[in-house]
This record gives sequence, C-alpha cells and structure tokens, in this order.
Amino acid sequence: MYSKTLRVSARALLQCINRRANLPNTHVFPVGHGRVGPSRLYYETAKPVNSLAGDACVRRVDLRSDTVTKPGAAMRQAMAEAEVGDDVFGEDPTVNELQKMAADLFGMEAALYVPSGTMANLIAVMVHCRERGDEMIVGDLSHIHIYEQGGSAQLAGVHSTTVTNLPDGTFDLDQLESKIRHGYPDAHYPRSRLVCVENTHNIQGGRVLPLHFLQEVKSLADQYGVAVHMDGARVMNAAIAQKVAPSTILKNTHSVSVCLSKGLGAPVGTMLAGAQDFISRAVRCRKALGGGMRQVGILAAAGKLALRDMVNRLEEDHHHARIFAQALLECEPPLYEVDMAAVQTNILRFRLRDPSLTPAEFCALMARVGECDGATTGQGIEVLMFPHIGGSIRAVWHLGISLEDTQLAIEKLKFVARQHSQKRHRSE
Ligand SMILES: *Cc1c(COP(=O)(O)O)cnc(C)c1O
Repeated sequence: MYSKTLRVSARALLQCINRRANLPNTHVFPVGHGRVGPSRLYYETAKPVNSLAGDACVRRVDLRSDTVTKPGAAMRQAMAEAEVGDDVFGEDPTVNELQKMAADLFGMEAALYVPSGTMANLIAVMVHCRERGDEMIVGDLSHIHIYEQGGSAQLAGVHSTTVTNLPDGTFDLDQLESKIRHGYPDAHYPRSRLVCVENTHNIQGGRVLPLHFLQEVKSLADQYGVAVHMDGARVMNAAIAQKVAPSTILKNTHSVSVCLSKGLGAPVGTMLAGAQDFISRAVRCRKALGGGMRQVGILAAAGKLALRDMVNRLEEDHHHARIFAQALLECEPPLYEVDMAAVQTNILRFRLRDPSLTPAEFCALMARVGECDGATTGQGIEVLMFPHIGGSIRAVWHLGISLEDTQLAIEKLKFVARQHSQKRHRSE
C-alpha cells in the first residue's frame, strides 16, 4: 500500500517535471543525484525510464560505452549559436578555432577535424603509407586491426602485420623490431612505414601506455625511419590518469587521433593532429574519403566545449570505475573477479568465477528488471554492459553516469550474485 502510494506520487512528480522541462514522458531528470558538477550542464541529464507492468519505473544505467552520451543544454546552445562558413574552403571560423585549440593542446603543429575516429586512423595510415603495398605494424588487439573493417587494406592498399598486445596494451619491443622489414627494395617485401599504438588501450580495458614505452617505440621507429601514429581515441583519459599534459604523451608520436565523441561528450567528431605537412596531406585524404564537410562549425562548437570543459571531469569517471571494481571484489556471495591494478581509467573488464554462468547470461540478468521496488533489491535497475573478448565483461563510465548511478549498478550486481547463489543452492 505504502509503496503503491509512493509510486503513484513519484510518477505524478515525474510528469510534472517532464512537463516543465518540456520533455517527453519517457524522460526524467535524475532526482537527488549526488554531485552535479557544472560540466553536467553540457550533457543531457535526462534518464530514460522504461515503462513496465503499468506504473513501475525502471532506472537505466548504461555502461555499454562512453559513446552513448548526449549533448545537453549548454552544448546544444553553443551549437545553435556557432559561427559557420564553408569548411572545405577553410572558411569555417569555429572549425578553425577548434583545430587551433587541439593543435596547441596536443603540442602538434596542426590539427584537422574529421567525422570519426575510424576515418582519422585511416587518413593517418594513408598519409604515412603512401605507396600501395606499404606495410604498417599494429597491435593484434588494436581497434585499427579488429574494429575498423580492415579499411587500411580495403581502401588504402596498405598491408598490416601484427605484434602481440600484452595485457597492459603495450607490446614487446624485440618483437616489434623483428617485424620491421629490411629487404626494401627487394621485390619480395613490402616496405615498413608505420607503427600504430593505442592509448588508452580499448580491448585491454582502458590501459594507459607507460611514457617510457612510448619513448622506446619512438626511438626504435626513428632508428628505422618508420612513423608512429597513436590511436588516441581516449588519450585524454591517459593524460588525466598519468597527471601529465597530453603534449607530454604526444611528443613521442608523429600523429594522433583523439575522439571528441567518447568521454569528452561531443556528439560527433575526432581530431587528427600532426606536423603541418602531415595535416596538409590529411586534408586531401579526408576529401577523397568523403569527409569534407561544409558548415560544420555547428558540430565543431560542441568539440570546442569538449576540449575546454570536459577533460578534467574524466577523473570522475575513473573514480566511479574504481568504486564499482572494488564492489565487485567485495561482493558477498563472491561471484566476480577483477584485477584492481588493471583498472586505470574509465573502462573496466571483469570476469565471473562461476563458469556455469556465461557473460551473455550475466549481462541479460543485469539488464532484466522485475517489480519496481528499487534500489533495496536492485530489481528496478536496468544495467547495460557487454560481454567482451576472452570471456570477460566490459563496463564503461562516462558523463552520463553519476556516483548515484554507480551505486545503483552496485546494488544490481549484488542482487544478481544473491539470486545466482540461491539458484545454485536450490539445484544442488
Ligand atoms: C572508438 C574508437 C575508435 C573509432 O572511433 P569512431 O569514431 O567510432 O570511428 C578508434 N580507436 C579506438 C581505440 C576507439 O575506442
């Protein structure tokens, strides 16, 4: 009776808030959120609420990726007010400002705004490897190798060879050296032109590449006249975790791609940066790939806010990921396994101790909602995450996930562990 009344009045309140905020009824502002820092203003703070069995409200905590964030009022306003021009003519002032800002921040001569990280990486490959059949060396678990459809072969005519990615995202330097070709111009061999590193390393769970590793890769590459490109989709997370300027990391690379649309929260876009000559060639490749955009200052305006206001708050995501990881370790009954030393940024990988529960089944349990009786049992909380490579599960923190969301997700993981252990005991 009590909970019914509470539910009805909560719903009335939500409707009232939604009306005032001019939001559809499927959205609600998070009431009683923990700390709401100023950067949240740049974000869509509305939380999706699923309607289930009549009036049950379900709180969603979306840990699938840091790509799911949505721009909020401040970012949308900056987009609406952006000064624009034809960027293919180099006449969009907002894009030009963003490119200047990025080049300064990264300590590079120039930067270019491109539609996606995938295109930025492909352009970098095309500029560094200009002869058909040139070869690049990539980590066997790198995004470029696994998740970009082999665009470097498909579209750039570049051959790849791999080095083995170690659990910390690095690779062995002797193996790297052994992969550099020495036979050019013997007709049997391609020519080694490029080494790609990924920082933070996505598949290896947001691992930050040590600075000494980057220095060693660079000096080896210099020795053989090979370029170094960093897929730095999340290099700002690395800079925050290492407490260094991004330029300190990037002085060890010839070029870098940095996503604005992940933890930094812009809706679209990636910065590609490098030397002036590299960027001049990159402009040509971008056009050939169909990435020359016109009044794109509308999007670049969001990118400027992302670089200006969203970098420092990444620490909050790292903090929440650690809190969640610690809760996995301490969960009673024990079901989860996690290496705390590997939790460095906003991506968390963990495992289940019980092989009879698969990662896919576990993710389905985390996302399944029962009666809406909220945080005390975890049943009213929908937590989204993905099964990941090697039997692990991946969860990613971002601007859309508050401390309160993290705590709700922790309630849910405890709930799932209790349910699973009860089920096991019944079947024994
Ligand atoms: C997301 C990502 C990319 C590609 O970015 P898109 O904008 O999705 O094309 C490249 N590298 C890494 C490591 C990423 O995480």
